Amino acid sequence: MAKYVYSFNEGNKDMRYVLGGKGANLAEMTKIGLPVPFGFTVTCQACNKYYEDGKVVSDDLVSEIMAKLEELEAVSGKKFGDPDNPLLVSVRSGAPFSMPGMMDTILNLGLNDDSVLGVAKLTNNERFAYDSYRRFIQMYSDIVLEIKKDKFDKIFDGKKAERGVEFDVELTAEDLKEIIEDYKKLVVAEIGKGFPEDPKDQLMEAVLAVFRSWNTERAVLYRELNNIDSTLGTAVNVQEMVFGNMGDDSGTGVAFTRSPSTGEKKVFGEFLVNAQGEDVVAGIRTPQPIAEMEQTFPEVYKEFTKIAELLENHYKNMQDMEFTVERGKLYMLQTRDGKRTAQAAVKVAVDMVDEGLITKETAVSRIEPDQIGQLLHPKFSDADLAANEAVAKGLPASPGAASGQIFFTAETAKAAVEDGKKVVLVRAETSPEDLAGMVVAEGILTERGGMTSHAAVVARGMGKCCVAGCSAIKIDEEAGTMTVAGNILKEGDIISIDGSSGCVYLGELEMVAPDLSNDFAQIMKWADEIRRLKVRTNADTPADAAQAVKFGAEGIGLCRTEHMFFGEDRIKAMRRMILADEESERREALALLLPYQKSDFKGIFEAMEDRPVTIRLIDPPLHEFVPHTDEEIQVLADEFGLDFTKLKHRVSELKEFNPMLGHRGCRLTITYPEIAEMQAEAIIMAAIELKKEKGLEVVPEIMIPLVGNVKELAYVKKYVVETIEKVFEREGEKVDYIVGTMIEIPRAALTADEIAKEADFFSFGTNDLTQMTLGFSRDDTGRIIKEYVEKGVFEEDPFQSLDQTGVGQLVQIAVEKGRKVNPYLKLGICGEHGGDPSSIDFCHRVGLDYVSCSPFRVPIARLAAAQAVVRENSNAEADK
Ligand code: ADP
Ligand code: MG
Ligand code: MG
Repeated sequence: MAKYVYSFNEGNKDMRYVLGGKGANLAEMTKIGLPVPFGFTVTCQACNKYYEDGKVVSDDLVSEIMAKLEELEAVSGKKFGDPDNPLLVSVRSGAPFSMPGMMDTILNLGLNDDSVLGVAKLTNNERFAYDSYRRFIQMYSDIVLEIKKDKFDKIFDGKKAERGVEFDVELTAEDLKEIIEDYKKLVVAEIGKGFPEDPKDQLMEAVLAVFRSWNTERAVLYRELNNIDSTLGTAVNVQEMVFGNMGDDSGTGVAFTRSPSTGEKKVFGEFLVNAQGEDVVAGIRTPQPIAEMEQTFPEVYKEFTKIAELLENHYKNMQDMEFTVERGKLYMLQTRDGKRTAQAAVKVAVDMVDEGLITKETAVSRIEPDQIGQLLHPKFSDADLAANEAVAKGLPASPGAASGQIFFTAETAKAAVEDGKKVVLVRAETSPEDLAGMVVAEGILTERGGMTSHAAVVARGMGKCCVAGCSAIKIDEEAGTMTVAGNILKEGDIISIDGSSGCVYLGELEMVAPDLSNDFAQIMKWADEIRRLKVRTNADTPADAAQAVKFGAEGIGLCRTEHMFFGEDRIKAMRRMILADEESERREALALLLPYQKSDFKGIFEAMEDRPVTIRLIDPPLHEFVPHTDEEIQVLADEFGLDFTKLKHRVSELKEFNPMLGHRGCRLTITYPEIAEMQAEAIIMAAIELKKEKGLEVVPEIMIPLVGNVKELAYVKKYVVETIEKVFEREGEKVDYIVGTMIEIPRAALTADEIAKEADFFSFGTNDLTQMTLGFSRDDTGRIIKEYVEKGVFEEDPFQSLDQTGVGQLVQIAVEKGRKVNPYLKLGICGEHGGDPSSIDFCHRVGLDYVSCSPFRVPIARLAAAQAVVRENSNAEADK
């Protein structure tokens, strides 16, 4: 029989797929002798089985849990529900990957009207016992019975008001007893029966609630956002309670072994005296910085910093720890690899290599490629920072800068963004319900909560700017206003927030590009040493090209030429060319376009110096260039001295039902070879002139798009080559060049051996290849695909992350067939996927020469390409 429950002393850190991350680390900490309250873990497989069995718990699982409970009773010397010496436990969810705030923890389980007396007696603290009891009823009712928390808060706050006290701790045991009576009445009123008294029932129901929480809307959304496999399931940890709320010699806290925002090597964190569990994270009370613990609990502080160091050396990674102090004794409740900003990730990785803790390869693989984007994000200009006075200052919870209109709820924020507005979400504090608003916001500002509050943790994970715990702002959600430094701001007013300083400004501040740290350069240098894939960029202008070179681009993988036709004079000539009846007319118009194209190419070649540049010949359907309204057509007719009706007729001829499968790509240049000739001439002339003027040796790569049959390629190529030969003769000068094609039609991939005979290179145009292989129009099906992903029909959007099983096969076939015919065939990818880390890993594995992506993704791609090598090596290691 499969084993579904493990005691903490039966597991280890490598069992995260069985015990979940939290359970595996609790077991590991137990194993290495740290002070961890004892307990057991119900496995992820038990959760999956529960769902497989149609949301039913098997009798076997119940008896396994009960057996482990007996063991826990024996170890703790306490008994569940015992009025003299009661065992209390926490029930904590823990999936294989940390999902902050997604799953709910129940504390103090085991309390009932009998055992509360035992707790009061044993602790000699009646107030404490009843406070624990009322917390438990509230949590349990929220999570298991699904009665809204605020109904309990109302009773609690009502009692505080009635007693005229400000802080929770000022309520007496008698007050708490009354509150508990009211809580119980509320439960009866809500669910029609009393609060469950039997601790074993409480436990089993709680375990089920954790299983259920795996599939709550917010958990599903979090998994989607973070690409976490939804079939993993969650484990449940049942652990003896320790109490941070037993008085002023007790407390609870969370801490990192290094700063999660800067990476500085120093224990960072927060703690609260006389508090329990979620009090720190929930942002209800504002905690003290951990350094102050040195004064409050000097011995415990010493022990804690020692454990922190030990854990970091043990895991060889920065740790995020949760602990509780009960009457002067320290207990470790959790450790995990700490989430960190990109800036911290880079610094920690480089520092740890310097400290001899990890290798370069590990350092490079520690950084989330997508996180690198954060470092490249803009911040406020120094000039504007100097010229503007901050109106408030909160905690610098997640770096970056954001300006936008303020909105006070996730819903209004979302609606505003859908209206095309830029939004700063302002909340008293955030909770998982606010996730949708946080996702769309430029930045997040909260009134309450610390560096480890929900807002801070989630924003850092998303790489989004966040200022938390900004108590100088006062939000009135009902009135839809926020007061700050005497200003009353309404919904829709603009503010700017700086997540690196915590400052809040009125109005919009200017943003500038960031300067990258030396540590960043170091990581990139290591990545470049490790990776085999080259990284190019998709760029159509000299400015984009120059930006990409700064980010480390080694060439241009895709230079689209159609944008070059849209300037005011150009579009005129273009339209004239398109609307011409005769070839001679077309040639006249093309002659007007030639100098524009030539100078564009010169600009781009110059920006790239001697790096390779792939230029794609004209690709989109012609109707994209012509006017559509009668008015516009009339203007054009007047301008060209043409007949309106005839012109209108010509325009309507260009309309297609399915333009993406219509007259575009090489089909255009087969119909009008003179377009290809003009473009070839412009490209080659640009190279020749740069050679003559600056001695630059450019080797243009001319790419003919949308080929499905080798004959299409051969047909257009003939015109290109002949034109170039003529230019060489005319100019008395030659340059090297190559001609290739995009592989973007499934037939092209399947017949790659034939196509390779005519091509010097293939560039996989995986946008179209995906569109045509899946039969999903990229421009029309965004909504459908979103629904597919939400409903789990697709794991990911195939236009964002390459469909490796389907489209990937075509890529693989083309690589093999192409290389067989031409071993020197250059292979690259220029679709959106060229900047997507898991697609880059695929490109590495199938042996492409380069990936090409947008300029801002170049560093991400360099890192992902290096990680592909590290992954390959560690897989090879594992196979040995
Ligand atoms: P999360 O996944 O949201 O961090 P946890 O399971 O870590 O949830 O529980 C949240 C908090 O509850 C912990 O940080 C700790 O303070 C408290 N807690 C959990 N288990 C215990 C326990 N056995 N004794 C005391 N406090 C506990
Ligand atoms: Mg929680
Ligand atoms: Mg925790």
